[in-house]
Amino acid sequence: MGPPRQRDASDESQQERYQSMSERREDQIWQMVVTSIQEHEKSQQLNVWLGRIRLAEIGDSKIVLEVANQFFRDHLDNHYYDIFYKHFKEILNLTPHLIFRVNPELKLPVEPEAELLPPPEPPQVAKSGKRATGVLLGAVNPRHTFENFVEGKSNQFAYNACRACAEKPGERYNPLFIAAGSGLGKTHLLTAIGHFIHEQDTSATISVVTAEKFTNEFIAQVRTHNMEEFRRKYREQCDVLLVDDIQFLAGKTGTLEEFFHTFNSLTAASKLVVLTSDKPPAEIGAFEERIRTRFAHGLIVDISPPELETRIAILENMAQREGVHLDSKVSTFIASCVRSNVRELEGALTRVLAYASFHGVEVSEDLARKALQSILREAEEKVTVEKIQDCVARYFGIKVADLCSQCRKRKYTEPRRMAMLLCRKHLGLSYPELGAKFGGKDHSTVIHACDKALEDLEQDEDLRNALLAIEREFIP
Ligand code: ADP
Ligand code: MG
Repeated sequence: MGPPRQRDASDESQQERYQSMSERREDQIWQMVVTSIQEHEKSQQLNVWLGRIRLAEIGDSKIVLEVANQFFRDHLDNHYYDIFYKHFKEILNLTPHLIFRVNPELKLPVEPEAELLPPPEPPQVAKSGKRATGVLLGAVNPRHTFENFVEGKSNQFAYNACRACAEKPGERYNPLFIAAGSGLGKTHLLTAIGHFIHEQDTSATISVVTAEKFTNEFIAQVRTHNMEEFRRKYREQCDVLLVDDIQFLAGKTGTLEEFFHTFNSLTAASKLVVLTSDKPPAEIGAFEERIRTRFAHGLIVDISPPELETRIAILENMAQREGVHLDSKVSTFIASCVRSNVRELEGALTRVLAYASFHGVEVSEDLARKALQSILREAEEKVTVEKIQDCVARYFGIKVADLCSQCRKRKYTEPRRMAMLLCRKHLGLSYPELGAKFGGKDHSTVIHACDKALEDLEQDEDLRNALLAIEREFIP
């Protein structure tokens, strides 16, 4: 298989769809396989068919895929067995016996909109003009609550701000802007606010909507000249508006303008608006200044990638939900393999559990290592100078800039030498290349630094341990 192509925005929304689509482990595994096939096999036809297959079982060394009729079954078996086999093997490190089975009553995992809490009827407006009952509108995942969110250093600030907003909607931090990279829990926290308010105040109408859905609705209403209804829905009848992935509006002038008015009218009425985005307002280039300023008017919180303890806690939380006992050695191992985001962390555990049930064995560290072989390989390939510098700097409590500076204080020279040595060992950089990566040093300085590092290591056991600890940070 070739290298995975760059992810783009449509992958992102594909991921989103998968995330909220189903909590069933088999469906999650199938979605990973589908994504992998879509990335590597350029077959339109196969692409359509993938949506009509369900992964029914993983176990006893076999994987059962269900389809609706015999013709389709035979066709897949005859023409696509190898492709499926290859991708299952790549993702799960399994050598599966694949069985295609006919199930005339096949029920496919449905699209999120339909499967998750169905959007209820619009709220009844009583004669007094006050709503009789409140609602939580939108496709929301029932699992995305505050109770199911694991707190840690990386997300504490965001979590507290979301709690505060949910407890007193519109009174504090309005708007609240959650900015964080993909898979770090934005949708989860946004939805948790919705669930919390809905439970506390049964008369509130809460809308949870992605910016993409807002856009589609807006366009549809413009087409049918139905703006009145659209405005009633998002301005008058809405008490809390929770909008996910607002960066989607960048460049969509018409929708952005409409959203901006919606936003202004709600916040002016002290109705809570929470926005999420993959970057802070100031960095969403295509937003006009006035819009950026308004979005940034309340509180902006970010979420960093979770640190090791939080990653372990998230895994244990997830395992508990699945009714699986996870040895602390295993959770530590998985958590040390996947650092970037929670979605990938969950994906890794799903792979391990699938691997275990495929072979009918208990989960162990050794098994996890086998199940995650492809992730480990990728992580190893992804070691870069920047990553090494970052790990070294963090370990010694200095800045990356100090590693590249000319300062000759011991506090900097020792880590600098270690970082150079590690880059040489793991990336095979030449001395001139190293010099360039460390602030433009000439190659004789670098040679001297690397020699000195080796000498120090030979004599100093603490330094040897430090080096091992740093290496563990960037290679699992
Ligand atoms: P984003 O919207 O930022 O891309 P999501 O909110 O969809 O990320 O989170 C990805 C997955 O990780 C979801 O299944 C979510 O429940 C889970 N998740 C993220 N952060 C946490 C956390 N701190 N505790 C528990 N689960 C989390
Ligand atoms: Mg999201």
